[in-house]
Amino acid sequence: MGRLFVVNLEGEGNIYSCKHCRTHLALSQHIVSKSFHSRHGKAYLFSKVVNVSFGEKDDRQMTTGMHTVADIFCVGCGSLVGWKYEIAHENGQKYKEGKSVLERFKVSGPDDGSSYWSSQEAHGGGSDADDV
Ligand SMILES: [Zn+2]
Repeated sequence: MGRLFVVNLEGEGNIYSCKHCRTHLALSQHIVSKSFHSRHGKAYLFSKVVNVSFGEKDDRQMTTGMHTVADIFCVGCGSLVGWKYEIAHENGQKYKEGKSVLERFKVSGPDDGSSYWSSQEAHGGGSDADDV
């Protein structure tokens, strides 16, 4: 496998990075909502993520309806870190299209501080929800 170009977000703001390998994944100013959930706890919706690769597109029934999503993997270590919304099938959920969710317990961020996000096994994207 070729060497991957990794975007460095240093100096751009508060960084969320992969908990396993510290690869930068997103910035706090790109958070759209902190009201999402995975099967494992809290998750954040970002308008932009970097240094990720995408899995196969998959139709999933989420809390807020049917969505076509792709799992997101850290390019540094291959960990599953969240999912991206390709298509939201429900009207009213369209704002999610093209945006990505990172599972909070998979990333280190500026608002770390509790051990609530204990490490658990992940098995692909789970539920979702939002504050709309
Ligand atoms: Zn990683």
